[in-house]
Amino acid sequence: MNPRRILQLLLTPDKIPEKIKKVTRRLFYRRLASHVGYSAPFPEGIDLLLTDRCNLRCKMCDQWNPDISRTKNISSLESQELELDHWIRVIDECKPYNPVITLVGGEVLLYKGFDAIVRKLSEENMNWTLVTNGLILDRKLVLLKKYPPKEITISLDGPEDIHDEIRSYKGLYAKVISNIETIRQQLKSTGIRLHTVMTRHNLPYLLNWVDSVNHKITGISNWKFIHLQSIDAGTLDRRKQFCRENFNVVHSAFDGYMLPSEIIPAAADVLEYKRQLTLKDYNFKTSFSPDFSDNSIHQYYCEKNKLLKEKYNGKCDALWSVCAIYSNGDVHICQDLKIGSIKETSVKLAFNSAMSKLMREKYIKSGTFPGCSSCFFSFSGKSA
Ligand code: SF4
Repeated sequence: MNPRRILQLLLTPDKIPEKIKKVTRRLFYRRLASHVGYSAPFPEGIDLLLTDRCNLRCKMCDQWNPDISRTKNISSLESQELELDHWIRVIDECKPYNPVITLVGGEVLLYKGFDAIVRKLSEENMNWTLVTNGLILDRKLVLLKKYPPKEITISLDGPEDIHDEIRSYKGLYAKVISNIETIRQQLKSTGIRLHTVMTRHNLPYLLNWVDSVNHKITGISNWKFIHLQSIDAGTLDRRKQFCRENFNVVHSAFDGYMLPSEIIPAAADVLEYKRQLTLKDYNFKTSFSPDFSDNSIHQYYCEKNKLLKEKYNGKCDALWSVCAIYSNGDVHICQDLKIGSIKETSVKLAFNSAMSKLMREKYIKSGTFPGCSSCFFSFSGKSA
């Protein structure tokens, strides 16, 4: 069978079981990359960043902080947001391919068309999840009860005083815990996932905290402890230069990973925390993301600009499998590389634009981009 016929078959939904389809797509498109013109099937995962606005001002966040924000001018964020009909069109396009759709922000619940998008996703029986800081989840309870997501991911940074301090909002922790309990009681079919990013600031308190809430926070399907994503100045400069020279792109989502060294935890502390946590038996499942071995943890924190050979072997699938649509309609792959705008084209065409194909070609030929060592896509094909 010629490659074009195979390509067509692989693009046809519902013909092949999902798992086989995914593996086959990856092998096929990567192996025969040059023969299929560096094209890709429809993305398997799409993040919809409905808004960059947020109701919190977390210390480590690049969304609002003008020093590290990719937008710089937060007062104009709402006026740049896509109108609802663009998102509805995206969902209509996605429907036959059934990708995992993640609604994310900013604080995604603030988007003016949030209710309509949730209704549409549910009515179309799409596979969708939601990432939120949890502060105003109760305001959406009636909506989410009627149209429940498969999963809600909520960020918690540590015990009450630490969480409220990091997120600069007194009383936030209590409110989020209360909302988690409400969601647990009211949305029986929705999984609740907690995310805690490990920093130097919260790490000393995590073990006692998780112990103390073992019987208090119930109904959690998974509690993930996320390694802090960061990049050093030299690698960031190299990435910017590389993107400028090869793709004529100047903007970099990686700017937000340039974190002050005082918040990056020491490898030894992360290792000790992992050792102690994994000895415990909790009512909820705990895991680390990415799921590094001890050796990789050491290398990740101590040699930031080196690729983790154990996990990464020049086979990042993200360029073939996931994309993000930003609040202004820009479609991105590889985090900071724009491949089109949803105002002008479809997801499918953007994912196979000349720019997308050029990126895949460069990647296949070089086996890595500057910044891959700091990118969690390289380990799992998704951000966390
Ligand atoms: S691992 Fe590298 S190629 Fe893959 S998405 Fe990240 S930066 Fe891009």
